[in-house]
Amino acid sequence: MIRFLLHTVVLLIVLAAYGQSPLFTAQDTLRGSITPERAWWDLNYYDLDIEVNPEEKYISGSNTIRYKVLSENQVIQIDLQSPLTITKINQDGYDLVYNSIGNAHWVTLLKPQKIGEYNELVVSYSGHPKEADNAPWDGGFSWSTDQNGQPFIATSCQGLGASVWWPNKDHMYDEVDSMAISITVPKNLMNVSNGRLRNVEEGQNSNTYHWFVANPINNYGVNVNIGDYVYFGETYEGENGSLSMDYYVLRDNLDLAEKQFKQAGLMMEAFEHWFGPYPFYEDGFKLVEVPYLGMEHQSSVTYGNKYQNGYLGTDLSGSGWGLKFDFIIIHESGHEWFANNITNKDIADMWIHESFTAYSENLYLDYYFGPEASAEYVIGTRSRIRNDRPIIGVYGVNYEGSGDMYYKGSNMLHTLRQLLEDDEKWRQILRGLNKEFYHQTVTTNQIENYLSEQTNIDLTAFFNQYLRTTKIPVLEFSLKGNKMRYRYTNIVKDFDMPVRIKVNEQEQWLFPRAEWKTENLDAKDSTQVLVDENFYILVKNLSQ
Ligand SMILES: [Zn+2]
Repeated sequence: MIRFLLHTVVLLIVLAAYGQSPLFTAQDTLRGSITPERAWWDLNYYDLDIEVNPEEKYISGSNTIRYKVLSENQVIQIDLQSPLTITKINQDGYDLVYNSIGNAHWVTLLKPQKIGEYNELVVSYSGHPKEADNAPWDGGFSWSTDQNGQPFIATSCQGLGASVWWPNKDHMYDEVDSMAISITVPKNLMNVSNGRLRNVEEGQNSNTYHWFVANPINNYGVNVNIGDYVYFGETYEGENGSLSMDYYVLRDNLDLAEKQFKQAGLMMEAFEHWFGPYPFYEDGFKLVEVPYLGMEHQSSVTYGNKYQNGYLGTDLSGSGWGLKFDFIIIHESGHEWFANNITNKDIADMWIHESFTAYSENLYLDYYFGPEASAEYVIGTRSRIRNDRPIIGVYGVNYEGSGDMYYKGSNMLHTLRQLLEDDEKWRQILRGLNKEFYHQTVTTNQIENYLSEQTNIDLTAFFNQYLRTTKIPVLEFSLKGNKMRYRYTNIVKDFDMPVRIKVNEQEQWLFPRAEWKTENLDAKDSTQVLVDENFYILVKNLSQ
């Protein structure tokens, strides 16, 4: 997702309150680390089956959790956030006892857990789930109504965790291999979730929508969207064959959607070009209208950008190019490759989701409007960079890094593209990432190492600089006659990124380091040195 405007303010207030070094609780560790009660089992399958009662703002049902035993243990951790309550936990017909520590529930298993076996646990639960205060950033259930007074309901839970509305293993590192989602709603309404609709079971006053996701899915990607939806769709002929692209929008918005969602096909073409095949052909692609701005829910990207271009009508880059596309269609769908296909193991590494996806915005422009448009856009977004704290967050406590993971991250990747001087190779690397880490959860080191190997550049200091500090490299230089003295300041150890300059319109590379260096320029009397703006560094001309 993308967080601007309100969320920025909230985050700054939180940081101010904590004086930049937040305090973490035992509950944060239970939520954010791979506890011994999580480590011994590997998720295989979820079967989530719930009824949603819009009038009472109440949900009830169960999640069946199938897992493979990796090592012997008799205590299993399941997460479910209050005010929802567990009503029963059952394995093989026996009700189990459990200890709750806040939102973590330690269940004592009766049956011996033998390595290699697949076992199932059925967790029944009910209650009034947390209402979203400011979806999708402060998520939960959004109980809204459409312009005709019909219920219009959606879940969102990134960061907060899916356990805000259903019981699961609420940590990013482990994903199920497939998942069934069955949602019962009043007869006049429809539920749209992830994957494909298998069938609709008709009840007396309600209908049950049975959805199935055939691919690994992260918890926060799972969603319920309920409304008076109408459907339209198309088939996209993509790199892996025919892909169904399905759209569910509020009845009154069909005309608007039919026009605006033409951008979905454009998105698919551009992103398959840059990133490789859409990663979830078996599950199809969907855009689903929701009462909040939008979210990268896997194979059911949610949309609430009011059928206009830009980010709620504004250009985040200030360059004008941001109005050439619908921000939510492009950005949230970009996450299908970076967030849903390649997923971080710990949200401290969320730059893997947001930096590449923010970067995808200008690659979309690049595909349709060329490299100059793309560069103007990404450079324009630098005004949003705060350098308040590092992009990488704190591990093991469910704590993201700075919001700079968006546009500082995209500018870092744009800078990396310059270093390669080979756009086709860069494209193959981006596609390679999606192939190498297909349907996997990863660490930042895996991504950093892959990029170093594939670019043939040791990027260790480069990533340390941009991901782990708030320091922006400063290129200092002075000119005397045809001699140029230059160096980097404000850098981490071993940072030595080359940079492209223009001397009297002639391009050349400089290789600055922390120590002063001197370059004899092929210069005239009135030498002009311009540092290429595509590099995200600061420039200080000491001769001026
Ligand atoms: Zn995002």
